[in-house]
Amino acid sequence: MKSSFRLMTIAKIPIEINITWFIILGLIVFTLGQGFFPYTNPGLSTATYWLMALVAALLLFASLLAHELAHSLVAQKNDLPIHGITLFIFGGVAHMDKEPPSPKVEFKMAIAGPLMSFFLSAIFYILSRLLHLLGLTGPLTSIAEYLFLINLIIGIFNLIPGFPLDGGRVLRAILWHYSKDIKKATAIASNIGKAFAFVLIAFGLLNLFSGQIISGIWFIFIGFFLLEAADVSYRQVVMKKILYGLKVGKYITKDVISVSSNITLDKLVDDYFFRFRHGAFPVVDDDSVRGIVTLHDIKEVEKNKWSTTTAKDIMLPLKKDYVINEQTDAMDALAQIARNHVGRLLVIEDGKLDGILTQRDIMKLFEFKAEIEG
Ligand SMILES: [Zn+2]
Repeated sequence: MKSSFRLMTIAKIPIEINITWFIILGLIVFTLGQGFFPYTNPGLSTATYWLMALVAALLLFASLLAHELAHSLVAQKNDLPIHGITLFIFGGVAHMDKEPPSPKVEFKMAIAGPLMSFFLSAIFYILSRLLHLLGLTGPLTSIAEYLFLINLIIGIFNLIPGFPLDGGRVLRAILWHYSKDIKKATAIASNIGKAFAFVLIAFGLLNLFSGQIISGIWFIFIGFFLLEAADVSYRQVVMKKILYGLKVGKYITKDVISVSSNITLDKLVDDYFFRFRHGAFPVVDDDSVRGIVTLHDIKEVEKNKWSTTTAKDIMLPLKKDYVINEQTDAMDALAQIARNHVGRLLVIEDGKLDGILTQRDIMKLFEFKAEIEG
């Protein structure tokens, strides 16, 4: 199942929402409609509280999006392509294949998000004051006050100096600037991120034991999330450092087993998938590559139709996403595999299939290199 879906495109950046966001949206609406707004505006109808909660939650969503867009636009301005933004749990992720080219760019990119949140916070503060001055102390003012507060919290939370939070990136940029060593800078920044995650988890447990179940679970949850993120992003940096500049030509598998487009699925399964145990095969007719046939797509076809269905019927037609050449950078190749969802790339030279490179190949190469070169 797809866990994210496209919402819109802004400045050529596709905006996606992760399904976890709906759970959080529900949780936020519930917390606001049940607790926060009845507390700040006593005496209103239940329907009004839910409506206020929904409006506030959607504006919170827009605020988070603005935060991520601020990062992305600065990145784009510095020639770092952004493939998309995915909004999930308590923020978003801008998808970027490359590390920022310099500490300066990283610093500007990282600080842009929190600055946007502080800016929004200020706007909503001014708005709530204006509404007050006009004598309007009803729902609208409360929503504005909530957004002032929540944007302030988002800005501050993200400035916590643990990688991969924005503050951690700012810290990394500073360490990187002085040490000239991005790996070392990332190691320090992500260790601080982990330490902070442990503090959150401990704080959550403390809450839990003192009877504050919901907030306890929240803190523990966010703590574990950060712990994982610190690990993953450190690994990514090490990987980028090791794989960047490595041309794939030397590491591809040359003797590729391909299938023809008119082979039936039962034959394909018996003679290829069971025999060679690869997850996919290139489809080639008369030396020209047609596409890729994957085990996953075969499983979509009912078994009793396997003898009448051919590879051509179910193959993924060849497209740019599946193709590299020998000169492709290993890190770029890895990013491309992550995007194309078939776990491998076809190396095509002069129109002919020259080799194949799987995600596993690159990961293995990385592990060996890391082992030997540190
Ligand atoms: Zn951010």
